Amino acid sequence: MGLISDNIQSFLEKIPENVQLIPISKTKPNDMILDAWQNGFKVFGENKVQELVRKFEELPEDIQWHMVGHLQSNKMKYIAPFVHLLHGVDSFKLIKIMDKEAKKAGRILNGLFQLHIASEETKFGFLPDEIFEILDSRAYAEIENVRMIGVMGMATLTNNESIISKEFKELYNTYLNLKSRYFQNDENFKEISMGMSGDYEIAIKEGSSMIRIGSAIFGERYK
Ligand SMILES: *Cc1c(COP(=O)(O)O)cnc(C)c1O
Repeated sequence: MGLISDNIQSFLEKIPENVQLIPISKTKPNDMILDAWQNGFKVFGENKVQELVRKFEELPEDIQWHMVGHLQSNKMKYIAPFVHLLHGVDSFKLIKIMDKEAKKAGRILNGLFQLHIASEETKFGFLPDEIFEILDSRAYAEIENVRMIGVMGMATLTNNESIISKEFKELYNTYLNLKSRYFQNDENFKEISMGMSGDYEIAIKEGSSMIRIGSAIFGERYK
């Protein structure tokens, strides 16, 4: 096996089976992704539309692509035909565009509500009440081709584990609230995407179902 496959394999061995690993290949070359693909790893995440589209076109078509970054609604059309899951759904406007582009592509698009859990101003995402408001709205009832399957969040970049724990707990609790108020009978609504290279162990302790791991698998990023 190659280096990247080994790294993915050893990650899989140290996380529970019910936690899905999403390797984040952003900024990394195709041959690294191909190395993993040749060894049976076929799920990857990217955070920029242009790079995601390029890799989709250049790499094998059986790769399941995740979009983990913030997305401008005018770029939805480029990824709607193939993307599997959008982790960073952070406005109702984006949900409406997802719906429109999914219809055009004849697909259902999966999304996660991104919540703002970190103390940094710059991180995107909803407050819980904003999601409740959307789900209660008449306009949401008209959405047909979007399937919201859970939540996503990024913790504050800090070494203070108790801050990270607290933020992930908040995300988990919001997931539970959404589940019980709106998605009780929807078996698809089950994903809690939290945890990156620096904080995935805490995230798993706090109930993560999906971890998004970039640098710990692919090495440091230089851009
Ligand atoms: C880059 C990125 C990751 C992975 O980050 P690492 O710290 O390299 O593991 C996870 N989630 C999102 C949204 C990202 O942009």
